[in-house]
Amino acid sequence: MLNDFISLFFPNYCLACNRGLAKGEKLLCLKCEYNLPKTDSHLHHDNFIASKFYGRAKLLHAVARYKFNKSGKVQRLLHRLKYGDKPELGTLMGSEYGKELREANFSEHYDVIVPVPLHKKKLRRRGYNQSAMFGTGLSESLELPQYENALVRNIYTSTQTKKSRLDRLKNVKTIFGYNKEVSLSGLSVLLVDDVITTGATLEACIEALTEAGATSIGVAAIASAK
Ligand SMILES: [Zn+2]
Repeated sequence: MLNDFISLFFPNYCLACNRGLAKGEKLLCLKCEYNLPKTDSHLHHDNFIASKFYGRAKLLHAVARYKFNKSGKVQRLLHRLKYGDKPELGTLMGSEYGKELREANFSEHYDVIVPVPLHKKKLRRRGYNQSAMFGTGLSESLELPQYENALVRNIYTSTQTKKSRLDRLKNVKTIFGYNKEVSLSGLSVLLVDDVITTGATLEACIEALTEAGATSIGVAAIASAK
């Protein structure tokens, strides 16, 4: 609370722990940068994120940089990215993670990056799509183009937390479509999101990408729940 108050007046604070940033640190302090719980999922093909999609979608990769824990520092970061008017945090996460993915040869597997879309009403309100900001950073480091408007969100959804998994899945399948003016035919797509929980949103997006003609798909997120 006090830290949040202080940070109002001193904007150069770490977005994960609220401490003041030292010279040369950007958005995150070195300690948090070092200690945030990484998954290393890009080094292990059959990781816990990939297992969420077994029997649901065939993917080239399923990776996320951090482990998501409710009320942890990663959750605080994602909250600030989404609601704290910090689009630059998404870009930073993307460019840093992109360097790691590039070392693991991800650039060779994909033609384009496509973010999970926001409904245009929500986009207008927030001013940016946090997943597309992450995609922008990835795009720089991986040297792949991002097609920000390749997918569209047709339905404005309220919070889905109270619905059963099946209802949510049925609901989510009608939500996404693809933009007929953007050709994905024959392309390999890296689909990006901020956080993976059940994988239902991504599964619906994967279906839309497949309908749009994408031949292979992988997913990358900033964080994933177990
Ligand atoms: Zn910190």
